[in-house]
Amino acid sequence: MYPLHSIDFCPICGGGLCGIRIIGSLPADSNNDDSADSATATASATAADAQNSSLAQPHGLVICDECEAIWLEPDVSTVHQYPDLEKAASPVNGMPIWGDGSRWASMEDIEWLGWTEAVNPELDAELDADSDSEEKLV
Ligand SMILES: [Zn+2]
Repeated sequence: MYPLHSIDFCPICGGGLCGIRIIGSLPADSNNDDSADSATATASATAADAQNSSLAQPHGLVICDECEAIWLEPDVSTVHQYPDLEKAASPVNGMPIWGDGSRWASMEDIEWLGWTEAVNPELDAELDADSDSEEKLV
């Protein structure tokens, strides 16, 4: 699985992408979920997230998808480190960087991190986006 958004090619191995990964669940950003469970189809997913949200403060890492070098900041000129091969945990809080509680960051995640300026759009994953909306002018 390729990073959705990357900041640069990896200066360590030369071939990987330095993708932005978010570790932990984002805090729920809705203030009005008093008792609105009935209509939303995504209620089960958010409930699972809510269970995990108290475990760890979500944070971002920059990880090479080839050699797994890790940067704590969205700047590959800063010091990098490598995770433990056995458990590959975040150096920030010990959360597994490839586990259920983490994912390649979406643009929304990256905005939450405040790292949008670091993203290089030319390195975004190719999503085979359906762009035929332009053709349908009827
Ligand atoms: Zn690398």
